[in-house]
Amino acid sequence: MNTRIHLSAPDVSGVEERYLVNALRSGWVAPVGPDLDAFESEIARRCGVAHAVGVSSGTAALHLALLALGVGPGQAVIVPTLTFAATANAVVYTGAEPVFVDSLPGDGNVDPELVVRAAADLRREGRTVGAVVPVDLFGACADYRALDGLGVPIVEDAAEALGASRDGRPAGSFGRVAALSFNGNKILTTSGGGMLLTGDGALAARCRHLATQAREPVAHYEHRDVGYNYRLSNVLAALGRAQLTRLDEMIARRRMLREGYLKQFAAVDGTRLLGEGDPGANCWLTTLVVDEQRAGWSAADLGAWLAARDIETRPVWKPMHAQPVFRDRRAWLTGVADRLFATGLNLPSGSGLRDDARRRVFDAISDFLGTR
Ligand SMILES: *Cc1c(COP(=O)(O)O)cnc(C)c1O
Repeated sequence: MNTRIHLSAPDVSGVEERYLVNALRSGWVAPVGPDLDAFESEIARRCGVAHAVGVSSGTAALHLALLALGVGPGQAVIVPTLTFAATANAVVYTGAEPVFVDSLPGDGNVDPELVVRAAADLRREGRTVGAVVPVDLFGACADYRALDGLGVPIVEDAAEALGASRDGRPAGSFGRVAALSFNGNKILTTSGGGMLLTGDGALAARCRHLATQAREPVAHYEHRDVGYNYRLSNVLAALGRAQLTRLDEMIARRRMLREGYLKQFAAVDGTRLLGEGDPGANCWLTTLVVDEQRAGWSAADLGAWLAARDIETRPVWKPMHAQPVFRDRRAWLTGVADRLFATGLNLPSGSGLRDDARRRVFDAISDFLGTR
């Protein structure tokens, strides 16, 4: 019997089991401990930044990053419309207003020229732009160089991009602050968790403080600020450390899948892979884009074919400007994100897919193409 093939299932091994058991036996079953300290410094080193703060989710990291930059009510924050809702939600938590900017067709990342135009429009109206939050979509870094000189703090949403790079710089090192996610579907998982990265020691200390209920360092629980319970558990940090020893191997497996898809679709008219040819992508998810007119079939047709064979795929994120919850927000649009939503399909991309499962996916796609 076939087991279901998931889009991006967690990939755990005996290494994770060993690290977890050691953490439990150490007695540090708390949001503090040696594995958390070590995980923070290991991730900081990997991403080429000075400071890392382990938190309970990528969303928490984004929220803290924005708070630490002073983002709040009355301000606008520029967010790509093509992202997961957490990017925009974190802005709303601060009381600021998320405004949305469309994508580049090549890799789906935010269009930097449109960001510049949106910032100029907002300023002309007397609005303060508190931050821009580019997203490294599906594990490909956005174009940060093109945002140099914007004069607005950049928060890098690197939730999907650990291990990726652009122009020789690692994901997580762009902008004033960056956020990573270790959610269950991400390239490295702690089942749930995240990390805030920054080169600014004072900003890191501020975030660490806010993440631990803003408790002052005295015995009687003194508080000057409203804080959050956002720290990462030491036990989960141990899981993260184990995963980190396997990160390069996991990225290599995801790349191998992408290579396979590239070969399958190379000669298929009207198809391309999103961000094709980006040497720095971590290949978290591989996205097929189908021009139905030229191909004679749609992304949804292939998705349905694979679903009938117990193989999970998923459409590209529905853009934020089209979400009921954000429909009334401002947006600078070109139609690219809407088109990617209509024509894109995320294919099984997990590093845990072994040879037989990989063959099943490739065979199912070949059969589909053979019927066309
Ligand atoms: C997963 C994700 C987040 C949120 O991370 P969590 O750890 O699930 O809170 C934020 N932004 C993007 C782009 C993501 O993919």
